[in-house]
Amino acid sequence: MTQGIDQGRRRFFRRQTNDALRPPWVKADIDFTDLCSRCDACIKVCETHIISRGDGGFPEVNFNQDECTFCEKCVSACPEPIFDLHQTAPWAIKAEISSACLTQNGIWCQSCKDACEPRAINFVMAVGQVPKPHIDLDACTGCGACVSPCPADAINVIKPD
Ligand code: SF4
Ligand code: SF4
Ligand code: SF4
Repeated sequence: MTQGIDQGRRRFFRRQTNDALRPPWVKADIDFTDLCSRCDACIKVCETHIISRGDGGFPEVNFNQDECTFCEKCVSACPEPIFDLHQTAPWAIKAEISSACLTQNGIWCQSCKDACEPRAINFVMAVGQVPKPHIDLDACTGCGACVSPCPADAINVIKPD
């Protein structure tokens, strides 16, 4: 009976949390909420404190304060068969810049470029306009370092369409 309730709750949370961003290197072919025991191990070890308890107590990443350094500590700390470091990329997410970007309103800003270590953000010059940012999706690692320095909250790191 208890198990039935637990499975029902897990199905509910799976629907609720499908869009939540999980830590890097989660296996692509699992349902995260089926395997995660909500032990908080990844939350405790994350060196940049970007993992917190989200819906249902499942860990979620957000880049509002800091970035992922790909230190792998969350992967090592997890006692469940959730992660696989052999995957080609830690995750499929990429940065996307919205129309809230200051340069869209003629205001000079390059804060995101300065924060991006892989140099995935380039500024495109155009005559009579301030340069506008362009993301090189191949170079972007989805680290989220560009999110918090943006004064206009114009950057989301999401799965591309
Ligand atoms: S790889 Fe490191 S920085 Fe990134 S989410 Fe895991 S513990 Fe945090
Ligand atoms: S930091 Fe934000 S506002 Fe500034 S150029 Fe980059 S996306 Fe635009
Ligand atoms: S998510 Fe990281 S790699 Fe991608 S554009 Fe932002 S800072 Fe650069």
